[in-house]
Amino acid sequence: MSFSDKSIICPDCGTTFTFTAGEQEFFASKGFTNDPKRCPLCRQAKKQQRSGSHGGWHSDSSRTRLSSEY
Ligand SMILES: [Zn+2]
Repeated sequence: MSFSDKSIICPDCGTTFTFTAGEQEFFASKGFTNDPKRCPLCRQAKKQQRSGSHGGWHSDSSRTRLSSEY
């Protein structure tokens, strides 16, 4: 089975990104049969959103900075 570059339109931001043959091979080797739906940027943003809402270190550090100003 051979792979060839594919153009996919991200449903989140509308950007057309390339799902390269190399990435398809990598996906297949990992056992993924579905094409990625979102562009790399949106995928990364989604990942960061999930971990950010869970940890909440950002609000903690801003609170510390505020209190040290007083
Ligand atoms: Zn996107």
